[in-house]
This record gives sequence, structure tokens and C-alpha cells, in this order.
Amino acid sequence: MLKVSGVHTFYGAIEALKGVDIEIGAGEIVSLIGANGAGKSTLLMTICGSPRARMGRITFEGQDITQMPTYELVRLGIAQSPEGRRIFPRMSVLENLQMGSITAKPGSFANELERVLTLFPRLKERISQRAGTMSGGEQQMLAIGRALMSQPRLLLLDEPSLGLAPLVVKQIFQAVKDINREQKMTVFMVEQNAFHALKLAHRGYVMVNGKVTMSGTGAELLANEEVRSAYLEGG
Ligand code: ATP
Repeated sequence: MLKVSGVHTFYGAIEALKGVDIEIGAGEIVSLIGANGAGKSTLLMTICGSPRARMGRITFEGQDITQMPTYELVRLGIAQSPEGRRIFPRMSVLENLQMGSITAKPGSFANELERVLTLFPRLKERISQRAGTMSGGEQQMLAIGRALMSQPRLLLLDEPSLGLAPLVVKQIFQAVKDINREQKMTVFMVEQNAFHALKLAHRGYVMVNGKVTMSGTGAELLANEEVRSAYLEGG
């Protein structure tokens, strides 16, 4: 479904991605793990077109999207829930979800809203609340919900567990699992919480210093000695 081939991304003279190859099949949950500064967020942002890849190619369902602007990607069926959530803090929960549905098929709003509120009942309770006054976990649910409102086929999640309490992290990952199972949605997730991310994923990749160094099924990577000592034990 998504294929990243030989992608290099720069910030000025800094080479943040040094030839990255990744493939995501339809219906999969794929997790990318790695330490701070490894380049995980940069990869997601490069897929979304900002910053652009300086070299290499990114295709979505066979179509070259390397130079495509972000709004066209949404139309193609790719939605992102960015790191730091970036919800609209002065708008209500409902208004945030409406913003997410701008590119969706006409007439689908009510159905999609119902689906998101069933997935995250907490958002239903808070529907009129200003988004900026909600807890971190609620804001994360809203950011994912807003991405879902565009009815994507590929959902990109940047650190959905960042800064959240363990119980909330569990709820968020359970929701991702449900979305994947029930809606057959493909998910590509970037995470520092390696244990949860690999447990949930069908497949995973490990990124070190701008390069993919390992890949395998979630279970294989969880059992791998190098992964265990670098990302799971005390890390
Ligand atoms: P984290 O988990 O801490 O977000 P990450 O794996 O997502 O880390 P990136 O944010 O992709 O890592 O950063 C990769 C490298 O690119 C880092 O060395 C970072 O300092 C650098 N970098 C990221 N954004 C910029 C920017 N806007 N300008 C310059 N350098 C940047």
C-alpha cells in the first residue's frame, strides 16, 4: 500500500534520513521504533510531504506521492495524527472533528462522527468542551478522532502514547487495534514505547540514526536480544 524507497531527508545540512526503505501492506499495523532523534517523526513528515525527500521515492497504492502536497494526500486517503497532537485548542471537540471531516465524502459526517464517538466515548461526554482544556489523553483521542473523520485508508500516528498515563496508553492502543480490525484500516505508527508498539503491530521496523537497522514481525522484534536490551529493558 505504502512504499518508501531510498528516502533521504535533510534539514539544511543535517541528513535526518539516510536512505530509508519501508513497506506497509494493506490491513497491517506497522510500528516504527527508535530512540530520541533517530528520525522517526521526520519519516512520517516526509511521507506527508513536509519536509520533502531530497532523494528517493514514496508511493501510495502504486502512485508516486513524493512531491505531492499534504492536502492531496488527505484526498488520496492518508491521514496523520501528528506528534504533540496539534488540535485546535480554542475550538470545541465537535468543531475539531468537523475540521477533520472537511475532505470526507459529502453526507458522511454523521456516520463518521458516530463511529468516532463510539470508539472514544470520552469525547462524546466532552463534545462541547474547548479542546485546549481537556487532559492530555483526551486530546490524544481527539487528535486520532479528527484524523479518522477524513475516512482515511492509511492512518499515520506519531507517538500516540507520548506523555500519557499507562491506563490511557492502554485505551489508545486498544482503540488503534479496534480501528484496524473493524474498519480494516492500515496503520503506520511511530513510537518510543517499544513494548506496546511492537505488541500491537503485525510488523515493525527499528530506526537508528536515520537508517532502518532491523525489521520483522512484532513478536520477532519483541523477542530479539538487541531490541530487548536497547528498547525494552530499563529503556
Ligand atoms: P523523537 O522521538 O525525539 O521525536 P525522532 O526519532 O522522531 O525523535 P526526529 O524528530 O525525526 O527524530 O529528528 C531526527 C533528527 O533531525 C534529529 O537529529 C533532530 O535534531 C533533527 N531535526 C528534526 N527536526 C529538525 C528541524 N526542523 N531542523 C533541524 N533539525 C531537525
